Amino acid sequence: MGAGRFAPSPSGDLHLGNLRTAILAWLFARSTERKFLMRVEDLDRARAGSEATQLADLAAVGLSWDGAVVRQSERAGLYAAALDELRARDLVYECFCTRRDIAEAASAPHAAPGTYPGTCRDLTEAERAAQRGLRPAALRLRTDVDSFTVSDELHGSYTGVVDDFVVLRNDGVPAYNLAVVIDDGVQGIDQVVRGDDLLSSAPRQAYLAQLLGYGVPSYVHVPLALNSDGKRLAKRDGAVTLAQLAVSGVDADGARTMILASLGLPTTSLDAALAAFEPTLLPTDPWVFTTVPDARGTGKPIGWPS
Ligand code: GLU
Repeated sequence: MGAGRFAPSPSGDLHLGNLRTAILAWLFARSTERKFLMRVEDLDRARAGSEATQLADLAAVGLSWDGAVVRQSERAGLYAAALDELRARDLVYECFCTRRDIAEAASAPHAAPGTYPGTCRDLTEAERAAQRGLRPAALRLRTDVDSFTVSDELHGSYTGVVDDFVVLRNDGVPAYNLAVVIDDGVQGIDQVVRGDDLLSSAPRQAYLAQLLGYGVPSYVHVPLALNSDGKRLAKRDGAVTLAQLAVSGVDADGARTMILASLGLPTTSLDAALAAFEPTLLPTDPWVFTTVPDARGTGKPIGWPS
């Protein structure tokens, strides 16, 4: 049996857009007889107390998951082993570039935007030794392609840049692109449902997955929630987290109802939504969520039945 997952970063409360992505991940997993796993991506940006609130909020809207919650912070050995393998296969190299070095080199003609220009790829051992005393090195993957094509259930065939991306940051923390690939591989995840802001990361991750002998998962990059200005929904956009909505008199059931309605699904329960779930009928446009400017006990989301 395959598995899908939701993989929140515990950097603050989930908002309605995050909860909607989680519900979609659950719907895609359950409607395809997959397990649904929960993984906390706490290598970076972790805020005290955030994980507990996020998990409580996910449970409050009715989601349940299989097995124990997995935390990236408890899996350092797995990432280290994968890095050892990549080192042994001569597939990584030390990079001493600062952001500024990269920005300057990348502005050269012919460089694809957002692409590492390869400055440190062919340093001699003597050059590396000289740099080591000066600043800490990141590790980059030595790739032999410029792009990779993935298939996405909503976006079709998607080709994106694969440069020599960072797998170990220069502060010693495994990079997101490494950790996510190892975790999905080790956890047997064969379906990745997440926000479409990560679509452009999928080719790099799929390339690394096949390099490490993991299957490439099937991808579903779902539309994000936007505010009325067309920007990605954020907490300052009014009542958008469960805690904020509660102040406005909307409970978790109410929040789930809004989310399911935005997906064109029955709103009575998650199970009713699952029974009616049909991926080809999902809205492909972002969910524009209009709220009152500040909930503070007075406002309700516009469109919410009074
Ligand atoms: N942790 C990432 C986020 O919260 C999601 C990563 C993923 O789903 O691959 O944005």
